[in-house]
Amino acid sequence: MALYLKAEAETTIPWFYFAGIDSYERSLRQAKKDLPEEEGLIAIYYSEEDWSGELNPNKQDTTPKSIAFFGGKGLDGNEDGRAERTNDEDVLHTLAVHMNKYGSKESSIRAGLWDFYQRDKAVELILGHASVYHEIDSLDVSKRAFPVPLHFNYSYRTTWGNARGWGGKRIHEGTDIFAGHSTPVRATTYGIVELKGWNKYGGWRVGIRDTSNVYHYFAHLSSFEQGMERGTVVEPGDVIGYVGSSGYGKEGTQGKFPPHLHYGMYKDSGYTEWSFDPYPSLRVWERAERKQEK
Ligand SMILES: [Zn+2]
Repeated sequence: MALYLKAEAETTIPWFYFAGIDSYERSLRQAKKDLPEEEGLIAIYYSEEDWSGELNPNKQDTTPKSIAFFGGKGLDGNEDGRAERTNDEDVLHTLAVHMNKYGSKESSIRAGLWDFYQRDKAVELILGHASVYHEIDSLDVSKRAFPVPLHFNYSYRTTWGNARGWGGKRIHEGTDIFAGHSTPVRATTYGIVELKGWNKYGGWRVGIRDTSNVYHYFAHLSSFEQGMERGTVVEPGDVIGYVGSSGYGKEGTQGKFPPHLHYGMYKDSGYTEWSFDPYPSLRVWERAERKQEK
């Protein structure tokens, strides 16, 4: 937080944008194998060429003058006379100076991010993370909640990867939590509502993106909670909708299967998105919440 606030003070760009960029990059590294592990607190990554300049014969150059001469981006943020690619303050300062060229309004930040990443999805994810940090005014996003209140009747088992019954050959990309019609459905993490609406498979569904870039998919709802819209920031435990049996047909189709919540989790690698099994996480969150209640 101290580093983000320093970058804010240098640029007038609010701290939560730096936090959003940083958490986006951290998640990319966890999802991808071709980026090296970050060495400091800050996960923002510059390649050697980017940092020192493409034509710079010294790829490990830390001299601000020669880096600038070869068109490298690297700058000295902690004023020790060196621009180090592995120093948190230098890296964050370099990014802050880049962002500052565009200005501190959201539209300018959007333009700066687009220039930096050249990917719409990256810009959307970073701005989403930034609104979460802004809204909760904290970097602590570790809290989790089980998607159904524990005092309701429900049951689930591991079914990820099973064959599905409807809509051709697809594997089951989630865990089904069986519960009574209208049982509340809750956000499991901090995040931002990325999607809300009808889909012929999932029925009425909500998608929430957390600050690790993980996408949480809640399907077959009977209705949505009031005030849940695209862009709404949620906390773990916030009610987002209610269990139902919607889906498997045109808009409004219901009752083709017993009411349940289909809960899916997807990771973003920077290029693609893939499903992973939510069952182990569900077990952990359920146990943690039970312990807390005792
Ligand atoms: Zn399902």
